[in-house]
Amino acid sequence: MTDHADPSPVVSLEGVSQRYITDSGDVVHALAETDLQIPEGQFVCVVGPSGCGKTTLLKIIAGFLDPTGGTARYRGEQITKPGAERGVVFQQPNLYPWYSVRDNVALGMRMHGVGTKERSAKAQRYLELVGLADFGDAKPYELSGGMQQRAQIARVLANETSVILMDEPFGALDAITRARLQADLLHIQRAENRTVFFITHDVDEAVFLGDRVVVMSSRPGRVVLDQDVELSAKAGRMLGEEMRRLPDFIELRERIAAAIEH
Ligand code: ADP
Ligand code: MG
Repeated sequence: MTDHADPSPVVSLEGVSQRYITDSGDVVHALAETDLQIPEGQFVCVVGPSGCGKTTLLKIIAGFLDPTGGTARYRGEQITKPGAERGVVFQQPNLYPWYSVRDNVALGMRMHGVGTKERSAKAQRYLELVGLADFGDAKPYELSGGMQQRAQIARVLANETSVILMDEPFGALDAITRARLQADLLHIQRAENRTVFFITHDVDEAVFLGDRVVVMSSRPGRVVLDQDVELSAKAGRMLGEEMRRLPDFIELRERIAAAIEH
């Protein structure tokens, strides 16, 4: 035994595969047997062309979908349903229109019996983190799409789940909002040691955010590259534009883009 044995993974996929049956009875082999271990506190980005099974993988980890083969585990326990320890951020904001932004953010905490005072303090803290400190009393329709997406992210963060599963969460945002949210998310993830599974089709975003980038290819979906991201500028990640000009950033981005094309 070593003094510092590897911590057991937070998420573990063992030969997980998925076949869908369409309404017309055809079988779609969406995901080939996949093994993936995600350690605590890792930021994993998943990239690949549309239809390669990224969302399928996320749904399996979230517990929305029972894989047709293999086993998915959360801290060693088989995943059979959604759990409060795995928060999901969808591509589109999904706020309740009749609640204020603050109440939307506090909703999960309310459902878990967190007291009023703690709830509103935490909601405010996460609204501040995503830059919506002054919008707690607003209704979702009063916010722009980017702000609504921030509110959705605040809600998932406020639930303080150890795992955050994100399905192209910034895909519909303008470039400036996206860059701001990327930096915010990295900051929060580092400060609070969250484990993040982040789907994107943007290679630049994947290299910028990920400690690791998993590249998938389609028919059936499978992992074709599992790449650690160890950039010399890791400590200075928040300096987005500077980091993106580093030769090792550019080289990694090219290696990943090449894996996607093959
Ligand atoms: P991605 O998120 O990478 O775009 P998905 O995981 O959504 O890919 O889908 C992978 C493949 O499985 C696609 O070919 C898609 O059409 C198919 N698929 C996804 N969900 C279903 C379903 N419920 N029934 C049949 N086919 C599906
Ligand atoms: Mg998808």
